[in-house]
Amino acid sequence: MTIHTVLGELDSSTIGRVLPHEHLLVDFSTVSRNNNHVLNDVDLAVDELALLQGTGVDCLVEVTLPGVGRNPEALRAISKRSNVSIVMGSGWYRSSYHPPEIDTALTDALADQIVGELTEGFLAKDGSRIPAGVIGEIGVQWGFISAREERVFRAAARASNRTNAPVTTHTGIHPIGVAQLELLMEEKVDPSRIIIGHADMFLDLDYHRTILRSGAYLQFDTAGRNHINPDSRRASALVALVREGWLEQLTMSSDRCYRSDLVAFGGAGYAHTVVEFAAQLQALGLEHAEIDILTRTNPLRALSW
Ligand SMILES: [Zn+2]
Repeated sequence: MTIHTVLGELDSSTIGRVLPHEHLLVDFSTVSRNNNHVLNDVDLAVDELALLQGTGVDCLVEVTLPGVGRNPEALRAISKRSNVSIVMGSGWYRSSYHPPEIDTALTDALADQIVGELTEGFLAKDGSRIPAGVIGEIGVQWGFISAREERVFRAAARASNRTNAPVTTHTGIHPIGVAQLELLMEEKVDPSRIIIGHADMFLDLDYHRTILRSGAYLQFDTAGRNHINPDSRRASALVALVREGWLEQLTMSSDRCYRSDLVAFGGAGYAHTVVEFAAQLQALGLEHAEIDILTRTNPLRALSW
């Protein structure tokens, strides 16, 4: 199975654990006007990734998109310096961050742009190419899919159909993940190519089961973000889903995106998912082998194309 990183293709057998939904460089402050919502320091990112040593994590999916601070050249530099493989996202995020071209470009032209980044790579200033490896995080801002968001979702779907690359999503308001799934499936995306994100922002097991029954991945990716849900409740819900038989379709990550999420600023850092959160899962009875499936087997299968 092949994973597409900013430094090129890797055989998945060479990769350890994966964090499938993170940000290293991102800027939400254009909308939020909050300086805490900016990550723009390459040295800081390298320092934070050094804290992953000994955790088994050597691959991270950076789901920041154009319009919200994506910086492919800097991601390549961070990957080289940290020895962490980085899978870069392609596409557009959600309404507030969409560039004007979403209104004026045809859906298939947007799909062409995504396919170009996946297959040829983003054209760096030095003329080299930096490949994207995943479509997303493609998002919905509110409790409905806006016209522009629908166009982006359809473009993402068509790019996935042409490349087999997975689509990973941002859900703002529960239960929008179901509508995202239905839209992608209307465009004939294979559910095994869909990762519905932020599922642990609202711990509604019926919502989770609806998504899982389709065959899509369900991602608990806000571990340690206790202002959204305490990890204890997040862990209980995840273990309940594993015990119902959904182990092979679940993934987990921490969506680090604020300065206050980083260890340097007193936060839990990137290691939290596979250290503290995994320990909570084990305390609730998950076996080491099951954690391995959640943090390695599943994300690598989802990311391979
Ligand atoms: Zn998100």
